[in-house]
Amino acid sequence: MSIPELPSPLGDGTRLVHAGDDPAVPGTPLRPSPVFAAPYHLGDQPPGWQGADGYARPDNPTLRVFERAVGELDGGDCLSFATGMAAISSAVLAVVRPGDRVVLPSDGYYATRVLARDELERFGVRVDLVATPEIEDVAARGDLDGVRLVLLETPSNPRLEICDIAAVARATSATGAVLAVDNTTASPIGQRPLALGADITIGSDTKALTGHSDVLLGHVSTARTETGRQLHTRIAAWRKTTGNTPGAFEAWLGHRSMGTLDLRLARQAANAAAIVEVLAGHPAVSGVRWPWRPQDPSYALAQRQMLRPNGVVSAEFADEAAVLQLVRSSRFFLAATSFGGVHTTVDRRAQWGGDAVPEGFLRFSCGIEDTADLVADLTQALG
Ligand SMILES: *Cc1c(COP(=O)(O)O)cnc(C)c1O
Repeated sequence: MSIPELPSPLGDGTRLVHAGDDPAVPGTPLRPSPVFAAPYHLGDQPPGWQGADGYARPDNPTLRVFERAVGELDGGDCLSFATGMAAISSAVLAVVRPGDRVVLPSDGYYATRVLARDELERFGVRVDLVATPEIEDVAARGDLDGVRLVLLETPSNPRLEICDIAAVARATSATGAVLAVDNTTASPIGQRPLALGADITIGSDTKALTGHSDVLLGHVSTARTETGRQLHTRIAAWRKTTGNTPGAFEAWLGHRSMGTLDLRLARQAANAAAIVEVLAGHPAVSGVRWPWRPQDPSYALAQRQMLRPNGVVSAEFADEAAVLQLVRSSRFFLAATSFGGVHTTVDRRAQWGGDAVPEGFLRFSCGIEDTADLVADLTQALG
């Protein structure tokens, strides 16, 4: 009997449910259970005998399965980390040397800028902060002398600016600079930076990939190219030495949670599409951004470069008081930072002091509640 052809490529839901799977073995669980161990029995054999695990920090069975799953989605080789910042700091610090230049987004995740200011400059690395939409121009002008690493964040958090990954990749590959993309906002099924020419894609898996606001995780995936393989070896050595390995329980929880990412993103995006219309139609709200709204300045590039929408939206209210009023008057728009979880949340970014945004700038993360309930709640709360 011949097996009928399966669609190629497989859909996101199928890929997510089966990512990292071993062939079915009777009597074993559908997903391997976590292996809780720091050291493993060596018996009378030397470490590494026939691939046996010896100590969990460099590598362990639960991590390998989770990394295979995330790597499949990214189309690269994954290394998982304790947090998103552990992933970013490792990708940067494992690659740069004193005297190098590094290009980072001036409008991206604020802790990445703190890393640059407080740690990289101390080691003699020159940091150029460039606005996300302008990084493409810097690259196109060939202004990459001495640049060892370009890190993009697209869509950027929190303003949701977009940068053309393939265009920057053409410039970095011409000069030999490494191109890394913080792909947290899009998630591995929303955008594939490695397929667009990046050497490294990074995710804070604290956000949508795990999506339940209950775990910290991050990852780095490297391209399956000569450069990518060298970077992978370097970053794996860095993780082993600095000890940024996630625990087995977190890795297992990450793998368990990602199976529903397709469903969660679909609902979050549907909710965002509806919420954006309410916000854009209200006189108290301005500057609504969602890259999948046809009026958005990033719409054309998002359509070309990204694979699907998500639930992260930004908008401006008059001031802090207007935001507090919204939080008090609504039932489901919970004030909390982070994004990508099942709960709908709002975060007034100015309260953290890291982003150059107005006092009333608000990042919305649409959860998976019913669209009609969110629309009704927001409409009554805005008045
Ligand atoms: C949250 C976030 C990070 C940091 O992730 P943690 O898991 O909190 O360390 C990095 N980049 C972006 C774009 C983020 O949104």
